[in-house]
Amino acid sequence: MKRNDTSQQAGNEAAALGIPGLSRRGFVRTAALAAAGVGAAELLNPSQAEATPGAETGTSAGSGPYPAEGMALYSAEGPHRLLKFQRRALGPKDVAIKLQYCGICHSDIHHGREHWRKETFPLVTGHELAGVVVAVGSSVSKFKVGSRVGVGCLVNSCRRCGPCANGMEQYCENGNVFTYGSSDLDDSMTQGGYSTFNVVDEDFVIAVPDAIELAHAGPMMCAGITVYSPLRHWSIGPGRKVGVVGMGGLGHMAVKIASAMGAEVTVLTTSTAKVEDARRFGARTVVVNEPGADLSRHKRSLDFILDTVPYQHDLERLFPLLKLDATLCMVGAGRINEPHQIGPFSLLRSRNAFASSQIGGIRETQEAVNFCALHGIRPEITKVPPSGIDDAWSKVVAKEARYRFVIDVANG
Ligand code: NAP
Ligand code: ZN
Ligand code: ZN
Repeated sequence: MKRNDTSQQAGNEAAALGIPGLSRRGFVRTAALAAAGVGAAELLNPSQAEATPGAETGTSAGSGPYPAEGMALYSAEGPHRLLKFQRRALGPKDVAIKLQYCGICHSDIHHGREHWRKETFPLVTGHELAGVVVAVGSSVSKFKVGSRVGVGCLVNSCRRCGPCANGMEQYCENGNVFTYGSSDLDDSMTQGGYSTFNVVDEDFVIAVPDAIELAHAGPMMCAGITVYSPLRHWSIGPGRKVGVVGMGGLGHMAVKIASAMGAEVTVLTTSTAKVEDARRFGARTVVVNEPGADLSRHKRSLDFILDTVPYQHDLERLFPLLKLDATLCMVGAGRINEPHQIGPFSLLRSRNAFASSQIGGIRETQEAVNFCALHGIRPEITKVPPSGIDDAWSKVVAKEARYRFVIDVANG
């Protein structure tokens, strides 16, 4: 459903979101500012946020509820505009996080532009959060005020099913809670990290090692773990040849991580301009995968392919590169109505497998972040102010990200 920014509808949206404690007056003012396109950068400074009576401000400790400001989409076509809303009051296991950075993942674009499903607007996307803990609930044991933390795609799960019990909350069989656009345990809709503040159960919060700057930590929470998990699952290490298809946010982390694991990496990119970077990140071989390019020289050369391309593309060019019994794992997730095609002979000639993988569990995300700290792996980032999100999205779609845009929430 397409919405506009009239105050009446804005009030309805607040109610639909189930955001407790958000005064209609405050929301109407926010909606009016948003409609006027008022400088989000200034307004995202928490010190200027309009405090809701009875609530602590987002910059200080307290039990909440916490006023937050986010850059929201009000429709699938629209630009990002300011949204003021509230994060829930601290539960015993919750930590309150003042956000400093949030990476821009292509999944945010898929969600925001409704490539995968109908969304509920206004929607604040972002699942590569990094910030500092400013308050903790009474039973929190892993974090304290001042802890540097990250949050990825998950903020809760059933915790009882087999996958949850084994630290694979991303495959929860009873419905996990994603960081945005998801129905939370109290039936409100989660809002993501393009915002100033969040409240998250400590079991879904990742500790950021001292060696990692917060600006670099965000992209590890999704891009990093999404490539780390399948590389581990398919036992990538010394002596194995790994193809990475698409060198954007996920792909460039895959090159660095697979190289650090000891694999020999081949990058397949559509961008000639990225060839040198690919080598700098650790690739031994770089193939420019343009239409009509001859890939026969690389036939049956790879033990594993990690495909990060976000839209429908020709897989028939890639399968012949796999050795006997090798797997192509697709982590890119294109438009729901444009599925990939796999011919009847594509996999049988070398008993190949086509597989996929979704982010990673909380334990493994911590492991991935620690791995990056240990091996000196950092994402290549470009900081953008909150007012620059729309421009950054356009550049990501145009394959111009080098290699992850990170929203500088605190210094917008
Ligand atoms: P990204 O930064 O935009 O990188 C994607 C790269 O794919 C581009 O840089 C480009 O690399 C290549 N590409 C080839 N054809 C393209 C096209 N038509 N349009 C855009 N890029 C094209 O995206 P990302 O953030 O890494 O995410 C990649 C995909 O993974 C998305 O679909 C995202 O939703 C998905 N994802 C999945 C999971 C999961 O759990 N499975 C988690 C996170 C993200 P070259 O220039 O090198 O060709
Ligand atoms: Zn992501
Ligand atoms: Zn579960």
